[in-house]
Amino acid sequence: MQTQSATTRTHQSYFPMRVGILGFGGLGQAASRLLSGKQEMQWVVAADKSGYVFDANGLDADRCHQICQQYGSLGYDPERGHLSENSITTAIANAGNVDGYFLALPNLPNTFMASVVRQFVEAGWQGVLVDALKRTSAMEQILALTDELRDAGITYMTGCGATPGLLTAAASVAAQSFAEIHEVKITFGVGIANWDAYRATIREDIAHMPGYDVEKAHAMSDEEVVALLEQTNGILTLENMEHADDLMLEMAGIVSRDRVSVGGVVDTRNPQKPLSTNVKVTGRTFEGKISTHTFTLGDDTSMAANVCGTAFGYLKAGYKLYRQGMHGVFTAAEVMPAFVR
Ligand code: NAD
Repeated sequence: MQTQSATTRTHQSYFPMRVGILGFGGLGQAASRLLSGKQEMQWVVAADKSGYVFDANGLDADRCHQICQQYGSLGYDPERGHLSENSITTAIANAGNVDGYFLALPNLPNTFMASVVRQFVEAGWQGVLVDALKRTSAMEQILALTDELRDAGITYMTGCGATPGLLTAAASVAAQSFAEIHEVKITFGVGIANWDAYRATIREDIAHMPGYDVEKAHAMSDEEVVALLEQTNGILTLENMEHADDLMLEMAGIVSRDRVSVGGVVDTRNPQKPLSTNVKVTGRTFEGKISTHTFTLGDDTSMAANVCGTAFGYLKAGYKLYRQGMHGVFTAAEVMPAFVR
């Protein structure tokens, strides 16, 4: 009984968390809608490329969407908005006591997220950060900042989207049945009605196609993306992607990275998934049996639901670590997400 009341007291003093969203495109906007239904998190600040919006009493998702649609940036909000060429730095400096941020930013160029993280360190900000990074090489840059983040008093949760993220965490749970893991195979299906609702996601996916890389995809104009999608009938088929699920599962001591593969199909003209997203974990049990666990996402869960739900689950889990003085970098394969009420 005593333990229970202590837990309740602690919980009440921690929540609601004041949270920010950096990047207000496809995922950032979906994240703001998701937070509208949560009591444990209060959304107080958001930034896009041209400005930011802040209200210590909480922001309204509908209003922010409207401003963005009408004027192209949150910074145009006449009451709470500020236009800025350095919107991230100014938002961090002016938003005051924010407990955690979801970094829903494009990682274009491939060094962008690490440069944003350095801005938090330089600002002397403390709290919890969560990203939905995809590339192994991008996550390696974040991991290289572990000591700096620890010294700065920041708890950083990396790879906390859908893949990497939800599916990597599921693989980590599934691995427990086995004495030895032979293979982890992630296959995703994504359906979106229009590619331009998720420009960075689509550009970063194109970067995995044969003949493309991050620099080339980053440099593509919108017209060039449309022309490419015209050639493929709106479909991107991706195989053996450079995805950080491999690094995360290796770091967690589950399987070597060469045994992890990620691929999928993205339909940019249809919100229905072209195939069911799943992760298959194959291994040998301690009795010597070879078997496979499969975890399949519901077809009606969107990419936004799977990425943003997971990101905030890790923001909450990371906040608990932060409050216990555990700073530095953690991945979605080594910590359980905490459900946000
Ligand atoms: P988007 O292109 O729709 O939106 C990007 C937003 O970032 C825009 O609001 C833009 O104004 C803002 N932005 C760009 N540069 C900025 C800057 N310098 N300062 C401040 N804001 C800036 O992006 P999206 O499709 O929502 O994708 C966001 C990220 O999420 C991508 O990196 C993508 O790869 C990642 N993602 C991860 C997963 C996963 O499962 N792990 C799934 C989908 C997307």
